[in-house]
Amino acid sequence: MIIEYRRFTKRYGDVVAANGVDLRVPARTTVALIGPNGSGKTTTLKALLGLVRPTSGEVLVDGTDVTAAGAGLRRRIGYLPQRLSFPEGMRALEVLELYARLRRVAADDLRALLRRVELEEVAGRAVDGFSGGMRQRLGLAVALLGDPELLVLDEPSAALDPSGALLVRDLIREIRADGTGVLLCSHDLAEVQALADQVAVFVGGRVCAMGRPDELAYTGGNPGDIEAIYQAYAGMRARRAEGVAYALPS
Ligand code: ATP
Repeated sequence: MIIEYRRFTKRYGDVVAANGVDLRVPARTTVALIGPNGSGKTTTLKALLGLVRPTSGEVLVDGTDVTAAGAGLRRRIGYLPQRLSFPEGMRALEVLELYARLRRVAADDLRALLRRVELEEVAGRAVDGFSGGMRQRLGLAVALLGDPELLVLDEPSAALDPSGALLVRDLIREIRADGTGVLLCSHDLAEVQALADQVAVFVGGRVCAMGRPDELAYTGGNPGDIEAIYQAYAGMRARRAEGVAYALPS
């Protein structure tokens, strides 16, 4: 599955959430979106899932516009949103059963899926009582339902303790080794360093640099050092733009 954003723009009144995003996500590749708060990463992810309609520009999956692609496409993509909420009063296994029905995907081995995210022992517990990290791992299990071709993860290790974050990192590596593409955004630059084949640096609603970490030019730091890349492309500009709605690339 090849994803292409062409001049993708999204406005909310005066706010420009995405300002001409050009981005290509090759098949079976892990691409990480990094950049300051409010630089348009989540908006870009949501456009792929049909949750945000472009004001202008287009988002293509294998050459077809996502707005025309419909439910068939959404079954091929697993999504972990930034803010998770589950129906009240449901147990972990019931949550998976519900989402498997909604997404119309096979629900053969939901316990194995819970085992994969280390929640099998709490399969029968109500999710209302789950910690932030447990909810995050359940969200990941929901995203993995139906063996998607592409996983879209919005800050997958936010709210996770260090061992939870390592579990997610290992899972993403396994998923990638199975040939599944991963498109994620994260502020955890160590996580990005460990996982990403390519990074796209967002500033002011657009991609100001994209490529393999070792091919992005920057000043200072070791080759491929994501933190140095972030600072070179986004950090300075974000600071300069403090106090305004978004930073404009110079
Ligand atoms: P973060 O790192 O904080 O998650 P982000 O890079 O994912 O940020 P977005 O969530 O895409 O950024 O938001 C980009 C801009 O668009 C922000 O200024 C945000 O306030 C604005 N925005 C996003 N969604 C809406 C909306 N539904 N209505 C109005 N403004 C919005």
